[in-house]
Amino acid sequence: MKALVVREFGGPLILEDVQIPKPGADEALIRVKACAVDQFDLTIRDGKFPTAKTPIILGHEIAGIAEAVGANVDNVKPGDRVTSTLYLTCGRCRYCLTGRETICADFKGYIGIHTPGAYAEYTTVPAVNLVKLPESISFPEGSVIANAIGTPYHALTKRAKIQLGERVIITGAGGGVGVHAIQLAKMMGAFVMAVDIGKEKLALARELGADVLFDASSGDFSGIAREWTNGEGAEVVVELVGTKTFEYALKWISRGGRMVIIGARTGTLWSGSPQAMITNEWEILGSRNVTKRELAEVVALVAAGRVKPIVTGTYPLEEAESLHQRLRKQETIGRVVLEP
Ligand SMILES: [Zn+2]
Repeated sequence: MKALVVREFGGPLILEDVQIPKPGADEALIRVKACAVDQFDLTIRDGKFPTAKTPIILGHEIAGIAEAVGANVDNVKPGDRVTSTLYLTCGRCRYCLTGRETICADFKGYIGIHTPGAYAEYTTVPAVNLVKLPESISFPEGSVIANAIGTPYHALTKRAKIQLGERVIITGAGGGVGVHAIQLAKMMGAFVMAVDIGKEKLALARELGADVLFDASSGDFSGIAREWTNGEGAEVVVELVGTKTFEYALKWISRGGRMVIIGARTGTLWSGSPQAMITNEWEILGSRNVTKRELAEVVALVAAGRVKPIVTGTYPLEEAESLHQRLRKQETIGRVVLEP
């Protein structure tokens, strides 16, 4: 089969002819029809993910058709259209057993890092990770559900618990996760301020229902956030950028407000004032991807047309390298998808 292989970190994506993998007893072999491209793929190929090893086949946002299944698998059968969660979890720890498997205590790693991913014509995944896709959802749309829609779904519904009428600021709102966070926040009845850089991204945010836009290329926008909220600050900030915008985020947040952190692309360490935390009773929440149960809920919402997967382009494996270059320069809008 054709696969894009990273032979050394920092090196190119090399199109190679490799063996089709064989599914283990608890796995399914998937004929990959679509694999969405994530910023995280750049982190991995640059060698910035500590436990990743070369050679590596990237790709963790998968949609395809189950081609064969292992002896123990009964939740999917050959011919089923499927998408997959990203994590390799133990299924036995207290977190896995209470529906919080994204914080598994015996975490085994990621598809596309610790197992070969879907920048290839075929891949194998644990069958327990799979959720069926109805015919009404195309494969490129299906590929963005688990991460680009599932991640904000978990963050907004289970972590920030957004309430009707709350004011929500979303940083990085024009990116792959942001465009879906806007739609979900609007569906939950919130008012949304979209923050990103560049006219095109903000125009898309507007189209998806954002009430207020801010082009962050002009820097700190606490002024406009204050004005928008009548000096109160927003009840929720959805942080998709990282420590670079945290200091602003805490200026835009209301007393008793919540900041839910999904993105950590910029910076590593961050300091804040414990006194301000106490005085304002702020809640700082981390949020990690999506559970299998939630993924099924998101698939149902997409199938019903309640959330629209934003796929702005589909490309063959041969164009992955140029796609990565554009992603690195933050030039892509929404999600771009490979069709191996
Ligand atoms: Zn576990």
